Amino acid sequence: MEIKLMKNILGANDELAALNRKHFAECGVVVMNLMGSPGSGKTTLLEKTLARLADKIKIAVIEGDLFTAKDAERIERAGIDVIQINTAGGCHLDAAMIQKACASLDLNSLDLLIVENVGNLVCPAEFDIGENFKAVVLSITEGDDKPLKYPLIFKESAAAVLNKIDLLPFTNFDLQSARTDLTTLHPTIKIFETSCTRGTGLDEWTQWLLERTVR
Ligand code: MG
Ligand code: ZN
Repeated sequence: MEIKLMKNILGANDELAALNRKHFAECGVVVMNLMGSPGSGKTTLLEKTLARLADKIKIAVIEGDLFTAKDAERIERAGIDVIQINTAGGCHLDAAMIQKACASLDLNSLDLLIVENVGNLVCPAEFDIGENFKAVVLSITEGDDKPLKYPLIFKESAAAVLNKIDLLPFTNFDLQSARTDLTTLHPTIKIFETSCTRGTGLDEWTQWLLERTVR
């Protein structure tokens, strides 16, 4: 029973996601679904990304959060159009929430729409929102075992950002083993090593994002 119900929910979501995807293509906007645990540094990475790309392409952000608008306020300070979705405890964004949020955006004027999903390594990867690609942020402090423990999110993501790389000497995170696991799960995944406090790897990451946006 339970399994069947979940299939129906995902089926309905997939239909809406397909509509979103069609709409995004018609408007000529590329959409990235940015995922990762709470505290992995998604919003900080986003701030650094926006600072590097805002004068090159037109970007808007959708912020998914359980209750607050704290992240959206941070993005707004960067002068970027931002729509806040509060899931009221819901642990992921779905296609219907994105469709509704997009009604307040002028998609035709945008090159890139970044959706910061709710902090969670599990179900955000299960719910297609109609994005062009997904990216996952994994911070060094979370441990190198996470790719194998939460394989779906890494299989689904075009890029994995290993963030807070400056903290590597203070942890037992095995970078080589994490890289091997990521590539075993997803042979074509693009891996970035970043530190938002030091500025490490941000040029490579934003260049990759720019190349995927301007087509
Ligand atoms: Mg955040
Ligand atoms: Zn969820």
